[in-house]
Amino acid sequence: MTIKEQPKPPRFRIIANILLSVSGLFLLLNLFLPGLFASGPAGVPYSLFIHQVQEGEVSRVSVGQNQIRYQLKTENAEPGAVFVTTPIFDLELPKLLESKGVEFAAAPPPKNTWFTTLLGWVIPPLIFIGIWQFFISRGGGGQQGVLSIGKSKAKVYVEGESAKITFADVAGVEEAKTELVEIVDFLKTPARFTQIGARIPKGVLLVGPPGTGKTLLAKAVAGEAGVPFFSISGSEFVELFVGVGSSRVRDLFEQAKKQAPCIVFIDELDAIGKSRSSNGFYGGNDEREQTLNQLLTEMDGFAAGDATVIVLAATNRPESLDPALLRPGRFDRQVLVDRPDLSGREAILKIHAQKVKLGDDVNLKAIATRTPGFAGADLANLVNEAALLAARNQRQTVAQEDFAEAIERVVAGLEKKSRVMNDTEKKIVAYHEVGHAMVGALIPGSGRVEKISIIPRGMAALGYTLQLPTEDRFLMNEEELRGQIATLLGGRSAEEIVFGSITTGASNDLQRATDLAERMVTTYGMSKVLGPLAYQQGQPAMFLGNGAPNPRRAVSEDTAKAIDSEVKEIVEKAHEQALQILKQNRDLLEAIATQLLETEVIEGEKLHSLLSQIQPVDKATAGSVAS
Ligand code: ADP
Ligand code: MG
Ligand code: ZN
Repeated sequence: MTIKEQPKPPRFRIIANILLSVSGLFLLLNLFLPGLFASGPAGVPYSLFIHQVQEGEVSRVSVGQNQIRYQLKTENAEPGAVFVTTPIFDLELPKLLESKGVEFAAAPPPKNTWFTTLLGWVIPPLIFIGIWQFFISRGGGGQQGVLSIGKSKAKVYVEGESAKITFADVAGVEEAKTELVEIVDFLKTPARFTQIGARIPKGVLLVGPPGTGKTLLAKAVAGEAGVPFFSISGSEFVELFVGVGSSRVRDLFEQAKKQAPCIVFIDELDAIGKSRSSNGFYGGNDEREQTLNQLLTEMDGFAAGDATVIVLAATNRPESLDPALLRPGRFDRQVLVDRPDLSGREAILKIHAQKVKLGDDVNLKAIATRTPGFAGADLANLVNEAALLAARNQRQTVAQEDFAEAIERVVAGLEKKSRVMNDTEKKIVAYHEVGHAMVGALIPGSGRVEKISIIPRGMAALGYTLQLPTEDRFLMNEEELRGQIATLLGGRSAEEIVFGSITTGASNDLQRATDLAERMVTTYGMSKVLGPLAYQQGQPAMFLGNGAPNPRRAVSEDTAKAIDSEVKEIVEKAHEQALQILKQNRDLLEAIATQLLETEVIEGEKLHSLLSQIQPVDKATAGSVAS
């Protein structure tokens, strides 16, 4: 189920309210000030009327509350003409009229039917309700729908029929769910816990990579507990004007306490909660620090037994958070929301596939197998991409092949058929990719080579080799890591063997190979020379294979040299290994590359049978390579 980030109250309701208010106002005026809207002959100044009376020109007068209508004697005006003037409170008027012998009478009171009475009594309250609702729906303090909180900009999702998200909408993060079920209990029946004297946790930190469903989980907690959900993003707190951030925090908690029990959700907590020692985004950290302090104050402020406000926060960089935030009584609970495993991915695909029409041949399990490392958001996106492809291909339902194509799109970016390579470049790219594929096919632990293509994709790759893992891997041994490095160097090695020169196309491969080698030495302790020491600062990247290595710990010059030479050694050995594999299978390299140049893509069974012809390197010549 998709969540609209900011459900709006139905627009027509606002418009209806405005219309009601305007027409009501009109009626109101009409009822109470009929004079204003009186139609008829143009008004005559009262002074002129008095003058006319005194001169004896007036024949008849009808005195009403808001209006005097009169006729002149026939010699002064056309017969039947009626003049109107607005009266002034004038007690002398009857006497004057009498003394001048004018015929006069009070005008009959306005016809007050039951209908107008009803309108008079019913419409004004309706107008006020209308106006009130109008402001409620844009201001704050009501009970339904989305209210935005004055200064704090927090969006509030009150439990509603349409947008209700529950744990059933979240899959693949079972451990996180189990922990959060407890939070739901706290929100539903706080008394049960406080009775025994237990302190209800105030803060729960959801930690995990982007797109794994942290926001979704927080909403699900609110939905399960049936409580209001205040949501604000950390970056929204941080404003240029000093003091705004902290006043927003204060404001937010004030509002939340009024609606307790409820959930306050702070997305991107790291934007305000960054460690105070680390260098800030804005030269001076004053503002962020004040905001952070205010947050800490607020969290310390609401005591047990008070209103139950539970603060959920999300971050993908827990290591950068200020330790003060993680102390007991603040965010003392941390829930890991990690990328889903195989069965988790299948479950997530199931949830999102409900929205599209699936063909009979679709096998969600097979799709899950091919998408390790995908987060929930990626899978949701994948289902949508597949549906778009099916629609573009004029299909009525989404087929398995749509999913296959969608996976490639998500993995490698959109196919760029328009980019034209010249023939030499194409040839180089072909050998390069076949080099990757052949080394990869012979190396343990790096997955099965499923496709080689020299159709450029995305921004970076001119060609690409798609290796799909046959299973989820969480641990890798040294040999497999060396194998991965060799596979990365396979492209460049092929270029060397075939053309005797190297192009710029391998720079990304080299970057990744070097990073991996460095991590082997400085993080995983895989170097015999340097021993099982961690030479990098901070925790190792939480999610395997993410980004560059951390900055190095301060090391002696000798150690730095040793690290450099070890890294170099690993990369060079892997390079050697790749070269040997390719040299030994030189003919096959030619054959596959020639075929690739013709068809541009080789995949599936055909590729498997080609790659199965590779001869492993003779142990005799390989020497110490596979250590
Ligand atoms: P995060 O806050 O962790 O960055 P979101 O909660 O915003 O991720 O996830 C974005 C979208 O991806 C969700 O709205 C949902 O459609 C989908 N999604 C992410 N994780 C899951 C999951 N575990 N189960 C089902 N859908 C998910
Ligand atoms: Mg989010
Ligand atoms: Zn390459």
